[in-house]
Amino acid sequence: VVQAKQVSKFFGAFQALKTIDMTVTRGETIVICGPSGSGKSTLIRCLNALEPYQSGALRVCGVDVTDARPSIDAVRRRTGMVFQNFNLFPHMTVLENCMIAPMKVKGVSREEARAIAQRFLERVRIPEQAGKYPAQLSGGQQQRVAIARALSMSPELMLFDEPTSALDPEMVREVLDTMVELAKEGGTMICVTHEMHFARQVADRIIFMDAGAIVETGKPDQFFANPKTARAQEFLAQIL
Ligand code: ATP
Ligand code: MG
Repeated sequence: VVQAKQVSKFFGAFQALKTIDMTVTRGETIVICGPSGSGKSTLIRCLNALEPYQSGALRVCGVDVTDARPSIDAVRRRTGMVFQNFNLFPHMTVLENCMIAPMKVKGVSREEARAIAQRFLERVRIPEQAGKYPAQLSGGQQQRVAIARALSMSPELMLFDEPTSALDPEMVREVLDTMVELAKEGGTMICVTHEMHFARQVADRIIFMDAGAIVETGKPDQFFANPKTARAQEFLAQIL
């Protein structure tokens, strides 16, 4: 689903990603972790063409990711993204938030979009919130709407960038539970998160980044018990 070869990205003279090589296969759940500023968000944003990269090659969901419009549109259609701050459309109801992309991007009818939206709101366990506006929901509920909205496009790959880090502690669980269910249903997911319990529970692999590079990658058991690099050891000592 993802093949990155020697992908580098610069912001001006600053190199935010340093020759990233990574492969993700269908059905895998990947957790990306690492210190603040290590390039986790930048990497995940390159995967769905929210950011351009400058060298190397990137293939996502069968699309060669370039900065050409057709490539960008094709990648965005096949991936779903969930952000730290939900990024819902504030002037639309929960149901409309989930209907808009299938209608606008895929051209499905209003009735069909409504059925799809309702199905995914049920899947994230908030069908009763369909008529409300985002501001009327708790943070955890808003984030589950964001997940339902992404799922309504039937993405081949779900990307999560710290989906629980803006939530009050009591709401983290409900969002993680939703993500665990998705992972167990076999979808392909790449999650930037520091929720290490989640990582242990569902990740097939952990990718550890530092200073724009992938420093270490391993199965959760191995990564947590025996991190190979000093940087990963220090990082784990700080967060666990
Ligand atoms: P955090 O855990 O704090 O979210 P991160 O690992 O997601 O960190 P990134 O947001 O990917 O880190 O940032 C990586 C580096 O790139 C940082 O040094 C950051 O300052 C820099 N950077 C990110 N976005 C931009 C931008 N738009 N312009 C210039 N530099 C940027
Ligand atoms: Mg980030």
